[in-house]
Amino acid sequence: MRHAQPLIPIKDPAWVKKIQALFEKMDQAYETSASASGFTCRGCTDNCCYSLFYHHTLLELFYLKEGLKSLPQETLNKVIFRAQEVTPQLHKKADSGSSEKIPCPLMDEGRCLAYTHRPMVCRLHGVAHILERPDGKVMESPGCPVYEESGKAALPLNRTPLYQEMAAIERALRQETGFSDRLKLTIAEMILL
Ligand code: SF4
Repeated sequence: MRHAQPLIPIKDPAWVKKIQALFEKMDQAYETSASASGFTCRGCTDNCCYSLFYHHTLLELFYLKEGLKSLPQETLNKVIFRAQEVTPQLHKKADSGSSEKIPCPLMDEGRCLAYTHRPMVCRLHGVAHILERPDGKVMESPGCPVYEESGKAALPLNRTPLYQEMAAIERALRQETGFSDRLKLTIAEMILL
């Protein structure tokens, strides 16, 4: 685990609504950009479910945990078992820089078991995007290889307003809970917390 501060349960349902609204905006932005480029993610091994990503916000951790609550106990046990299994493998992969593909513990027969509660990168990965820095400089990032092969990067997704809203919710959530640790967690580690 990469943080030490205990998590405080967040009881106020207003947080769920705020995060849900933000994630809906992300899904819409992704959909607009992907359809403008004629891109559809077909779940190749370059997609988020086989990639090593870290998640850094309390709001994503909290929301994923909300989603896990609705899984049947047997399914949750299976997910926890897989998370325990892949965590050391992911650490090894990160340390060695290997390109080994390790499936996310929430992926089940090609489906995400926490689809509605998945974190930000699972919603935005794949399509080309831009990010406007506070100094006004615009950073451009390519999409995944399949997206780039489509050769039709018609409408890169502008992550700027989504990140700004996410940062505002994160600040408020941390203020309310007093949680101040930096987070750097894989999905597997989020499941096990
Ligand atoms: S949380 Fe879901 S969408 Fe994200 S990597 Fe895991 S299985 Fe894929």
